[in-house]
Amino acid sequence: MNIAIDGPAGAGKSTVAQQVAGKLGYLYIDTGSMYRALAWAVHHYEIPVDNEEEVSRLLEKNTIRLERDQGEQRVFWNDTDVTRLIRTPEVSEYASIVASYPAVREQMLVLQRKMAQRGNVVMDGRDIGTHVLPDAEVKIFLTASIQERARRRWSELRAKGNDPQLSDMEKEIAERDHRDMNREVAPLRQAEDAVLVDTTGISIEQVVDRILQICYRTGESQL
Ligand code: C5P
Repeated sequence: MNIAIDGPAGAGKSTVAQQVAGKLGYLYIDTGSMYRALAWAVHHYEIPVDNEEEVSRLLEKNTIRLERDQGEQRVFWNDTDVTRLIRTPEVSEYASIVASYPAVREQMLVLQRKMAQRGNVVMDGRDIGTHVLPDAEVKIFLTASIQERARRRWSELRAKGNDPQLSDMEKEIAERDHRDMNREVAPLRQAEDAVLVDTTGISIEQVVDRILQICYRTGESQL
């Protein structure tokens, strides 16, 4: 069985997807980290982010690899471990820009489908249920209000010792939502056969339980 979890920034996808994968013994694949790795490289090598051709060529000529290490996903740009480096506000912004390029998405689609070939994966992103794994047995669309998503990002950054403004977080998330939902190729939207789960005011455990129930039901109906 493959499980697709899509939704906007800050809806809790990665935490939830990781826990669901852990409980089921499935492989977790965070597709956002792949766009982030490319965005990191664009920034690091000072490639003009608005030049689609150069950005796409950079991806073509290099390798992005996801590895499991003690239950955690590590992200490599060639042999450089960029796991921590891709979690900055600049990389978030660049990621949503490079993700709007059709030539980039085409390459990512091929990579991501290859990763899911063995089955039993939980993949999270924006276009998994609609484009990458349209045949996934379970599709979840995870969302939450902008205020709640901004508050979660704000607490994450504060926990890391930063002092962000809540209003800046709201603005940043609204901008990313807009870009992700309005791009031409594979925009963020709920697949017709996806189950909508609104995480506003619900604990992670409750969300994970709800998704596991959907998975068990789907598994039973396929026996
Ligand atoms: O999920 P995360 O916030 O790490 O993703 C970073 C960016 O990558 C998103 O804002 C989105 O623009 C892009 N993305 C995408 N399609 C995916 C996963 C992420 O366009 N499947």
